[in-house]
Amino acid sequence: MLTLTDLSHVYANGTRALDGASLEIPTGMFGLLGPNGAGKSTLMRCIATLQAPSSGSIRFRHTEGDIDVLKEPERLRATLGYLPQDFGVYPRVSAYELLDHLAVLKGIAGRGERKDTVETLLQQVNLWEVRKKAVAGYSGGMRQRFGVAQALIGQPRLIIVDEPTAGLDPEERNRFNNLLAAIGENVVVILSTHIVDDVADLCPRMAIINQGRIVLSGAPQQLTQTL
Ligand code: ADP
Ligand code: ADP
Repeated sequence: MLTLTDLSHVYANGTRALDGASLEIPTGMFGLLGPNGAGKSTLMRCIATLQAPSSGSIRFRHTEGDIDVLKEPERLRATLGYLPQDFGVYPRVSAYELLDHLAVLKGIAGRGERKDTVETLLQQVNLWEVRKKAVAGYSGGMRQRFGVAQALIGQPRLIIVDEPTAGLDPEERNRFNNLLAAIGENVVVILSTHIVDDVADLCPRMAIINQGRIVLSGAPQQLTQTL
């Protein structure tokens, strides 16, 4: 369970991107829905400890611990998988090499264990056939699936996915969504998007954010009727 309490964030230029956002996010897939500019990315970056909010608190409780996220960011990072909206890739480096490198950074030291981890992930996201090709040359959908593999290294308990299906064709969108749906019930997976159907298809619980505030939360069937 991830608990956000009264989060506010004002950027240096005076933009109030979060304005007292409070929310409880249980394990499983959770959708955060809101229009462009609502504050979704700011909220995701605060949860991912990439940015400190101006005020408020974030707490992550799971079977192995209870983390005060703003005070203990390194503990949260150890159990976090983050798939940002735009992620850069190094030119010419293959999917296999990148994942292997990231596994080292995540502390998966043994050669055998790393090989198992990387090979399993490449199969899971359906990129095994192209594992030796440069990620920079991948299509949008392949890149997003690679992003999922990257986020899954080290068996995180919290996964944040920011606007994943923007720009994907329907077939790639389906493949991507199936991948998320298979992640498992003991993990908090937050899917941040402005696409209502992604949330309705995948998430038993969701919230709506607008102008930096959580305006509604509940089951998609209830909420989408009010949209
Ligand atoms: P912080 O308050 O987190 O330090 P800043 O206001 O200093 O953030 O901005 C961080 C970066 O984002 C700057 O490079 C800034 O130019 C850029 N930026 C400014 N306004 C926007 C905006 N509306 N949307 C996205 N990025 C912006
Ligand atoms: P969303 O992800 O829902 O589109 P954002 O969190 O990106 O929303 O943006 C929320 C508000 O904060 C918007 O008004 C946006 O222009 C502004 N904003 C985002 N990043 C920055 C930044 N670095 N500096 C200043 N303003 C920003």
